Amino acid sequence: MERFEVNILGCGAAFPNQRHMTSGQLVCVHNERFMVDCGEGIQAQIWKFGFKTANLNHIFISHAHVDHFYGLLPFVSSLDLIQNRKSPLHIWLPEDLKEPLEYDFTTYCKLSFPLLMHGIDTCKAAVLYDGRNMTVESIPLNHRTPCCGFLFREKKKPRVLLPQKCLALGIPQTEFGRIKAGADWRKPDGTVIPNSELTTECTFQPRSYAYCSDTSYNPAMIPQIQGTTLLYHEATYLQSEIDQAEKYGHSTAAQAAATARAAAVKQLLIGHFSSRYDDDSLFLKEAQAIFPNTIASNEGMTVEVV
Ligand SMILES: [Zn+2]
Repeated sequence: MERFEVNILGCGAAFPNQRHMTSGQLVCVHNERFMVDCGEGIQAQIWKFGFKTANLNHIFISHAHVDHFYGLLPFVSSLDLIQNRKSPLHIWLPEDLKEPLEYDFTTYCKLSFPLLMHGIDTCKAAVLYDGRNMTVESIPLNHRTPCCGFLFREKKKPRVLLPQKCLALGIPQTEFGRIKAGADWRKPDGTVIPNSELTTECTFQPRSYAYCSDTSYNPAMIPQIQGTTLLYHEATYLQSEIDQAEKYGHSTAAQAAATARAAAVKQLLIGHFSSRYDDDSLFLKEAQAIFPNTIASNEGMTVEVV
C-alpha cells in the first residue's frame, strides 16, 4: 500500500514547555509532503526527529494564533538556505493572516524561489488543492478567530483492466490504454462492448485524514468528516475544565471523542494539550472511555493512515 502517514512535530497548546512544542505536522501522501501548521521551533523538530521535507510544496495554516504559525518564516527561510530550493512554495492561510505574512516575508526574507500565498475563506468548505492522487479541503472550525481544518482525501483509483477477456474479444493491446481510461470497445461489426464488461472495480478503499485544530465542540463539521480514516482533533482541556474550553474556543478530550464517535471515524488522534496538566494519559483515558480507538499525539511519532 502506498504511503499515507502523519509525522507529529508539535502537539502542545499555546507555548512550548518541557513536554511539548506548539502545533505542527507533516502529512505524507504517496510521494508528496504537506505541512499543517507551523508553530515556533518546528524546523528544529524536523531535523531532530529526522523527518524529511522533500516534495513539500504546500503549507496549510489553520489560523492566526502564534502557536500555529510563528515558525513559518524561519522554516521557509531554511528551505532556501539548506535545500537551495527553486520550485514554488504555496502557503494556504486564512484571509486575515495573508497580508501581514506577505509583509513579513517581503521585509525579512529574500527567497530564491516563488512564494505563493492563498487566502482561505474559513466559513465554507472548499477544495484547496486537487492533485493527481489526492485532494485537500478546508473544514470550517469554530474558534475565537477565523480558523479552518484540513481534510486530505485519496482519490478513487480507476477500474482495473481484464486483459484475458479483452484478448479473447480480439481487442489489440494498443487499445488497452484507452479502455483503462474508461473507453468502450466497438467491434468491427459495430457492436459496442461497454467498459464495465472489460474492466472491474478496484478494491482499493481511499483513505482520508482530517486535521481539526483549534475548535470548540463543533457538530457542524461532522457530515464533512464522516467516515474519515484518521481524525486529529484538538483536546486542549479535560471535561472538568469544560467552562475554560468554551470560554477560549477549545474542546475537551471527551468532546473530541464524541465528535469521532458521531462521525464514525476509524481512529482518533488527540493533541493540542494544555500545559496545565502534567499527565497526557488523563486525556487519553477520558477520550477512550467514549471512543476506544483513540491515541495521543507526541513529538516524533508517525501515525499511519490505514
Ligand atoms: Zn488558537
